[in-house]
Amino acid sequence: MRTALYPGSFDPIHLGHIDIIRRICPMFDEVVVLISQSSNKKTLFTTEERKNMIIESLADLKNIRVEIHNGLTVDYAKKCGSKVIVRGLRAVVDFEFEISMANINKKLAPEIETILMFSQHEYYFISSRGVKEIAINGGNLIGLVPDSVIGPLKNCRASTL
Ligand code: ADP
Repeated sequence: MRTALYPGSFDPIHLGHIDIIRRICPMFDEVVVLISQSSNKKTLFTTEERKNMIIESLADLKNIRVEIHNGLTVDYAKKCGSKVIVRGLRAVVDFEFEISMANINKKLAPEIETILMFSQHEYYFISSRGVKEIAINGGNLIGLVPDSVIGPLKNCRASTL
């Protein structure tokens, strides 16, 4: 079975992530959206909340699985037998980070390939950080995150006021 991993924080999932997932799903038997439980990154949503938002916004896709992982992505890949890690590439600023991450992962696990997917032009400016900033300041989130994520983001704003 051809399984691809799509790792990230997804705090929260936005339309840039959704676009990449929808484009990679037809290429693989299974896509695992892997929520990294990074200990050094403070998140707005818990891993369970992030997982539920992803499941809800991609409910129509039959070949995705959403998992939470604490540790190296390559270790998860080895455990589940995946040979492919997919990453999304927005602007040039992502490139430095992605090339070094891909090389570190190649060193740790030479059998695993990193595939980079370019963001489509209508999504390249979207980031989780950006949508959180917009939400906190009461801005319009339509067209940036799935409809099911707008409510939870607004609730977070309400709890900070
Ligand atoms: P963010 O940078 O928005 O917080 P993550 O850290 O969760 O997102 O990133 C998970 C993956 O999604 C990474 O490979 C990242 O480059 C990719 N990604 C994030 N935003 C976009 C976007 N707007 N278009 C395409 N890929 C994206």
